[in-house]
Amino acid sequence: MVRILRGDTLAGQMSDDLAAEVAALVAAGQDVPGLAVVLVGEDPASRIYVGRKRKAAGMAGIRSAEYRLPAETGEAALLDLIAALNADPAIHGILVQLPLPRHIDAARVLDAIAPEKDVDGFHPVNVGRLSTGSGAGLVPCTPLGCMILLEQVIDDFRGLKAVVIGKSNIVGKPVALLLLERECTVTVTHIHTRGLPEIVRSADIVVVAAGSPELVKGDWIKPGAVVIDVGINRVVDKDGISRIVGDVAAQECGHAGVLTPVPGGVGPMTIACLLRNTVDAARAKEKAARMLLVGQARAVPAPS
Ligand code: NAD
Repeated sequence: MVRILRGDTLAGQMSDDLAAEVAALVAAGQDVPGLAVVLVGEDPASRIYVGRKRKAAGMAGIRSAEYRLPAETGEAALLDLIAALNADPAIHGILVQLPLPRHIDAARVLDAIAPEKDVDGFHPVNVGRLSTGSGAGLVPCTPLGCMILLEQVIDDFRGLKAVVIGKSNIVGKPVALLLLERECTVTVTHIHTRGLPEIVRSADIVVVAAGSPELVKGDWIKPGAVVIDVGINRVVDKDGISRIVGDVAAQECGHAGVLTPVPGGVGPMTIACLLRNTVDAARAKEKAARMLLVGQARAVPAPS
């Protein structure tokens, strides 16, 4: 019988742990971690996501500030705001909610975020650090959430065969790099992959981020495999009722070892990892400031 691995429960634990960690940091005299959330336009889904992120931040003791800009905001004005947030010492993390309106070059905006405040992990510096496995950068939240879920059920990743479906910059590619870092044998697949069912059948770990409702059928899954379903798809059934489904035909996967549900799986973990990254960014800033003080003290010539 498949084990359902709930992300909402784990995310709740992470939030409680973060709240305790933040309280301890503040008691030790450090700043309250600050997260800036930037939303351009009126996209209803984006507004819901931003609201959830701010609520979760508050529960973890993180101070969040929301910047809502009208859809017609120009790229230069948005870049000015990013520059101001980069310079603001009370802000440790900056999140620009995607998608941005079409007249704004999203890559240019993401590149303008200071890498040490890039809590989404999309800046080229953080992408580079992830690809070299330095462990020093901020890691994108959804892939990080996938890995934390996998760590609940897998002790030793070495040599396991992992198949990632989807090669986006925000999920597929980074999750593949993280699995590779754990010494899995990783196959990344996409819309043009030939013989996808056969490839998936060989996998011990399947991570699906395709955005295609119930793409992965039960008979693609090897008995006992661990399946992480990242997809979030709204479908309307024959009675006109709308519901959310993942990229995996979950009801066909009773023979899998582990399966994450949709909703209640990867989604809440993504938010928890955003908060984790914000606290890590605040800690890293504090550490850098301490190192600077030590460096300055060393630079002072010893009295003769
Ligand atoms: P994307 O559209 O940027 O990329 C989709 C990828 O899947 C592409 O590489 C494409 O080649 C591949 N693909 C699409 N259809 C396929 C098929 N039939 N066979 C094989 N490969 C296929 O999407 P994304 O931003 O990576 O998001 C993927 C899904 O994950 C979406 O449903 C999205 O809503 C969801 N998502 C969830 C979270 C979360 O927090 N749970 C976060 C990000 C994305």
